[in-house]
Amino acid sequence: MRVYNFNGGPAALPLPVLQEVQEEFLDWQNTGMSIVENSHRAKEVVKMADDAQVLLKDLLGLNDDWAVAFCQGGASLQFAMAPLNFAPDGASCDYIDTGLWSTKAYQEALICGAGAKIAASSKNDDFTYIPGTFDFSSKPNYIYLTSNNTVRGTQWPNFPSSVPAPLIADVSSEFLSRPLDLTNFGLIFAGAQKNVAPAGLTIAIIRRDFALSGKKGLPHMLDYRTYIDNDSMYNTPPVFAIYVAGLVFRWLKKTIGGLKAMDALNREKAKTLYAAIDSSGGFYKGTAKETSRSIMNVTFRLIDASLDKPFQEEAKKEGLVGLGGHRSVGGLRASLYNALDLNAVKALTGFMAEFQRRRG
Ligand SMILES: *Cc1c(COP(=O)(O)O)cnc(C)c1O
Repeated sequence: MRVYNFNGGPAALPLPVLQEVQEEFLDWQNTGMSIVENSHRAKEVVKMADDAQVLLKDLLGLNDDWAVAFCQGGASLQFAMAPLNFAPDGASCDYIDTGLWSTKAYQEALICGAGAKIAASSKNDDFTYIPGTFDFSSKPNYIYLTSNNTVRGTQWPNFPSSVPAPLIADVSSEFLSRPLDLTNFGLIFAGAQKNVAPAGLTIAIIRRDFALSGKKGLPHMLDYRTYIDNDSMYNTPPVFAIYVAGLVFRWLKKTIGGLKAMDALNREKAKTLYAAIDSSGGFYKGTAKETSRSIMNVTFRLIDASLDKPFQEEAKKEGLVGLGGHRSVGGLRASLYNALDLNAVKALTGFMAEFQRRRG
């Protein structure tokens, strides 16, 4: 029996996609072998990866000023690649600190020798909000932010519009959940395992001229140009994850109807869950400030932390899994990624009301 999966990542994938993978697994595209046994140089595989890139750019409405790089090493390797390419030799760059993942990215930039500075932080209030004022450096090479904070359940409703340098964003936990206007951006990246594919693939989308402005002479696998110049086939890419990502892109386009439609569905899901939290008379309490609430990761607490465990255990019996908060903060979290539909959220809110009746 399949459960309602609220995992923070790796996370739920669309059932029709999983079924398609299963159906064509043993003999993929009449090659007589599975996708994971094919050469990455096989023409069918090369075409599959090309098609995935095209579909992805189509979903995001990106023209040829932009390149897609299928990387590995997780979002965490991007924490190093960004400063190595774009703030080499102590060059200035600004970080907006909104919690665990941006703090890690900032620390990694320092390790890489970048002249990284914190331009705004919400640490003073336990990362419960997205800052609205920024103290940018005079000439930073880039400005870095985390668009959706998976751990704290906050999300940028919109991005800073007047900025002194291209934005770089870690969009891991909201990638393809809403349309994204990349006007002020140079680079965005996302670990695929949150909203797009199995772990092992990290998608970077980079403006070509920005990529060309990067430091030359880096080791090949750390240089964005290597991915762009070789269509992400300089070495063996994570073929299976790219294949699943391509199916998810097609599902987003054909079945859902694109990112605007996905956004509307996601907002409805989040609204339903936040309404249940807010109308519980304090039995459940959201942890993020209302104006900064995430559509993807809904973080909340119970009136009494000793109920956290029974809540999760009893939810699991009802087929609702993955509701624990990130290990660094505890509490509860429901990740409402694209693959989860409104029925999952309604099952959760139904359970929450029932749990409150019994324990409130
Ligand atoms: C999960 C997550 C990461 C870490 O990703 P890895 O692929 O495991 O390195 C980084 N940033 C955000 C926003 C995340 O949600």
